[in-house]
Amino acid sequence: MEKYVREEIKKLNAYEVLNKDFTIKLDANEGVEWIKGLNRYPLDKSDTLRGELAKKLGKDKDEIVLGNGSSELIELAMKAYLEAGKTVVSFSPTFSMYQIFTIIHKGNYEEYPLDDKKKLNIEGFVEFIQEKKAKLVIISNPNNPTGLFIPREEIKKILTSVDAMVILDEAYIEFTNEPKTDFTKEFKNMLVLRTFSKAMGLAGIRLGYMIADKENIGYINRVRSPYNVNALTQEMGLKVLNDQEITNKNIEMIKKEREKMRLFLQGKDLNPFPSEANFLFFQAPKAVFDALENKAVLIRDFSGKLEGYYRLTIGTPQENESVRKIIKEVQHATS
Ligand SMILES: *Cc1c(COP(=O)(O)O)cnc(C)c1O
Repeated sequence: MEKYVREEIKKLNAYEVLNKDFTIKLDANEGVEWIKGLNRYPLDKSDTLRGELAKKLGKDKDEIVLGNGSSELIELAMKAYLEAGKTVVSFSPTFSMYQIFTIIHKGNYEEYPLDDKKKLNIEGFVEFIQEKKAKLVIISNPNNPTGLFIPREEIKKILTSVDAMVILDEAYIEFTNEPKTDFTKEFKNMLVLRTFSKAMGLAGIRLGYMIADKENIGYINRVRSPYNVNALTQEMGLKVLNDQEITNKNIEMIKKEREKMRLFLQGKDLNPFPSEANFLFFQAPKAVFDALENKAVLIRDFSGKLEGYYRLTIGTPQENESVRKIIKEVQHATS
């Protein structure tokens, strides 16, 4: 929305790359070909991939922009919407990059604590946003690392009650039971972020996308580097979009395994929080973490800020079974 975009960006023109037909291309200082096609710069706006994605999502192409991971898109949103010294609000705990990017972009980061059950008090959160006069709000939904999913109706309440741009980071949306519709048509003050890194299992190719009103996408394009998504990634993204069956199967497997693991952790009194993502947030004695580490099983330790809290990604059935075996052994040894 024009109201929220940075003054400097309002006046800036986007760098335009023209895709013209050619017989000989000598306009871009590209080198000679020795690996098929890769001597050329990629399509600037990932045109083919963006078109396919738009079709899948029932959107217009100009309501989408692709990024080198959704991480790049969080940063581009800050470049477009965050004036130095202005406040960004999220809740806590959440994805730590929000704070890091805010600081890099000279903003002031304020966090609203989730309650003891790691749930969000919506009224309190809205009041906090208003009180802090935030210009940018970031919501990880489902939330990393707690797994909390905030229902659509509550997100809409936030969108209508705050005088700010709202980034809805849906990196884990595919693992929820919610329809994947966005409501960027209805709300011009929102940017929705998704990624190929989690449910699609392609963190290695670095590909994310933003869905928003086309005016907002225009502002993001003004601050985006040309050719920000490389040719190999565009090609791989297209391939995967046309082969959703594997992805869907994996999502169903993870959901099933998540519930199995949650029940297990519950049974071991390790207090797993309800999660709609591909991980579980839980509390455990240090011995559990150490036992896993001794077997070279890595889980995320939140000690320091959140003593005794851990986040476990749901893996393959065999990997999950190994984790359960190790936890059973350590609990047996210490009881
Ligand atoms: C993993 C993650 C991302 C980053 O995704 P990339 O597309 O790989 O950059 C963004 N937001 C949250 C909350 C995440 O957990």
